[in-house]
Amino acid sequence: MARISQRISAIAPSATLAVDAKAKALRAQGAPVISFGAGEPDFPTPESIVEAALAAVGDTRNHRYSPAGGLPELREAIAAKTRRDSGYEVDPSQVVVTNGGKHAVYNAFAVLLDPGDEVLLPAPYWTTYPEAIALAGGTTVEVPTTAESGFLATVEQLEAARTDRTKALVFVSPSNPTGAVYPREQVEAIGRWAVDHGIWVVTDEIYEHLTYDDHQFSSLPVVVPELADRCVVVNGVAKTYAMTGWRVGWLIGPADAAAAAVSLQSHQTSNVANVSQQAALAAVSGPLDAVAEMRAAFDRRRSTMHRLLNEIDGVACMVPQGAFYAFPSFAGVLDRAGMPDTTADLAAWILEQVQVAIVPGEAFAGPGYARLSFALGDDDLSEGIGRIADLLNS
Ligand code: PMP
Repeated sequence: MARISQRISAIAPSATLAVDAKAKALRAQGAPVISFGAGEPDFPTPESIVEAALAAVGDTRNHRYSPAGGLPELREAIAAKTRRDSGYEVDPSQVVVTNGGKHAVYNAFAVLLDPGDEVLLPAPYWTTYPEAIALAGGTTVEVPTTAESGFLATVEQLEAARTDRTKALVFVSPSNPTGAVYPREQVEAIGRWAVDHGIWVVTDEIYEHLTYDDHQFSSLPVVVPELADRCVVVNGVAKTYAMTGWRVGWLIGPADAAAAAVSLQSHQTSNVANVSQQAALAAVSGPLDAVAEMRAAFDRRRSTMHRLLNEIDGVACMVPQGAFYAFPSFAGVLDRAGMPDTTADLAAWILEQVQVAIVPGEAFAGPGYARLSFALGDDDLSEGIGRIADLLNS
């Protein structure tokens, strides 16, 4: 009999949080660390949202338990926001408020999967998905993509990976970690393929507002309405409103999936903290001005990062199309004599030598690449890449 359950022992702790924690710990000791590790905006939460939370603290209604699926007014506001932003028409009862998008991902798989069910997961992928799939008893089937195909999975690849145990597909656009955004035609082709084969899609729309140049976000169940009956949308306030610490996300599913998620949550966490829900209510009911401002800053930093990375000998970086990550290949560096052999070792070496934190691609099933967030100040960004360049060119 195992002392700690085998199910939990099999989880790899989040590599992105580990890199971020290590960088923050070194900084606390006084080291001049620059971290490209964090998946969070460097802006404070907009003031109007903070004010709504302050008012909520004093309202005794928020001092009590509230419905497990979320405050009714927040579920309604999320339904309205979804109609406004992606054009997806849903009833508030289909919305389940969760403790962040991460919790929505976990609950989506818990609700959909039985042991042995297979889930197609295009790689490189955000590190949480396979763990959430495994915890729900499912089996991840990786569908590898590379920079050559813009990190986009094709219907042919998905079809080749499909078996009679395939229950669901994970679809993420804009993508963490690759920054890829699927063009509408490809979203449509993938949605139609899923409908044809009765496959559920868990679609993570958390970066919906962060796209650049002429890349545009398209919501799967809007592009392919027939998919709505087998589609779970994951979203949250973290990235759009610089609210990572408030822990509010949601899932939107067909009636049976949403009801199952509420039932699970009624035993698992009960309601999300009411003050955070009130802050989220102010966020999703308010304007998108702050998002536009952040997006403009990210767009500028994206260009700088892309240019500086490609100037380093042996580094090749695709132009990020969305989210706030660059995902360069370091293959040309690893090939050089005297350099580390893997991006995991390279990232550790860079942190040790020049106090710059990057997340090795191994964390995302993308060895040879690394993820660098461009959600940090312009000066830090240039200084950080400059230090990497000096080290690798020396
Ligand atoms: N989905 C994706 C693709 C993400 O990158 C993240 C955050 N790293 C989340 C979901 C979860 O965000 P949160 O739990 O902070 O809402």
